[in-house]
Amino acid sequence: MDSYQESQRQLARPYRKAVLRALLVFTFVAGILFFLLNMQRGNHPLAFAEIGMALYAAVIFRAVRNTRHLERWVLAYLLPFFITMMFALTTPRATSTVFAWVLLIPILAHLLTGRRQGLLISGIFMTIAAVIFYLKHRGDPTLMQAIPIANIGIMSLCILAFSHIYEITREQSEQRLLKLAQTDPLTGLANRARLADVFELERRRSLRQGTPLSALILDLDHFKRVNDDHGHDTGDRALRHVAGLLQTSLRRTDLAARLGGEEFVLLLSDTSLEQARVVADKIRQNIEQTLLVIGDTTLSLTVSGGVAEYGIDGDSLKALVRRADARLYHAKATGRNRIVGAGELDDERQPLLTGAEPGPAA
Ligand code: GH3
Ligand code: MG
Ligand code: MG
Repeated sequence: MDSYQESQRQLARPYRKAVLRALLVFTFVAGILFFLLNMQRGNHPLAFAEIGMALYAAVIFRAVRNTRHLERWVLAYLLPFFITMMFALTTPRATSTVFAWVLLIPILAHLLTGRRQGLLISGIFMTIAAVIFYLKHRGDPTLMQAIPIANIGIMSLCILAFSHIYEITREQSEQRLLKLAQTDPLTGLANRARLADVFELERRRSLRQGTPLSALILDLDHFKRVNDDHGHDTGDRALRHVAGLLQTSLRRTDLAARLGGEEFVLLLSDTSLEQARVVADKIRQNIEQTLLVIGDTTLSLTVSGGVAEYGIDGDSLKALVRRADARLYHAKATGRNRIVGAGELDDERQPLLTGAEPGPAA
């Protein structure tokens, strides 16, 4: 259940939007300026292409304000912009300094579309520009020499390489920060933030595909005693021990999160309430049977749990957790070291031991 990519795309959005908007303003101003200059010089086709680009930039500027499809608008702008640039390079009146604009291609392509698309788009347009440059200037003896060619070529490759490397390191550090922000530092499991993100993705998938989605809450039994009898460090070791067991007993598509304290939530995709109860009971048995040995101390831990199914027990993560929590407290009240599913509570509309808010009737 890799939600990182989706989160990363969402994170990159405001930053890319800012770059795009700055570029649109720049295009608008430069487009009008070059339109006037080229009209004066009598280069009408290029002048019209430039005023067209300026107006197009204004339209896109409005469109991206509240868009949910920024990636599409980026391409809708970038491709015509680069095509206009190629067109400008081919016009006979354009001077060889117009080629300086080509250096913008790798920078903009990488900033706006990321490393993969950025490299692809840069490769295509820079190659086209190189071919146009060669065809146009092959008869020019001052340009067709090793030093000017090396200057232009190496400069272009440097900017391409640096833009690409910059984008790779930017994406990597973004990914690292994202992971850090979504991980529980003690156990390495997902934290609440990640649980909420993944739940949202899984909720949509469940609706789209019509597959069930269940949540399980586990709470360690008498965990206070572990801390009181063996110290807080041992308590922490015990939490990591349980987290490790949870992680090994889940499928790749499931998510284990620590809500804080000694409470864990598991999100089980494509799993009905009854299936979730069976899975939960296996996990419960596994935790009970796997002793934790620290030096001379041997700890036997147990957990209690409650399960709830999306759509039946609640339509939000909050509602689902609340219902699973109510069942968890029923498990606590009826002896601990057990899992409670649906139908075991006399009346789930009644607030339970926690005083939890009632959810919709199951
Ligand atoms: P119950 O079976 O009813 O759940 O009893 P309990 O003692 O587990 O429950 P309670 O909620 O009263 O106590 C939870 C304890 O978990 C309190 C606290 O000492 C311990 N705890 C919470 N977070 C941490 C943590 O990060 N590290 C350690 N070592 N202990 C923690
Ligand atoms: Mg507890
Ligand atoms: Mg607790």
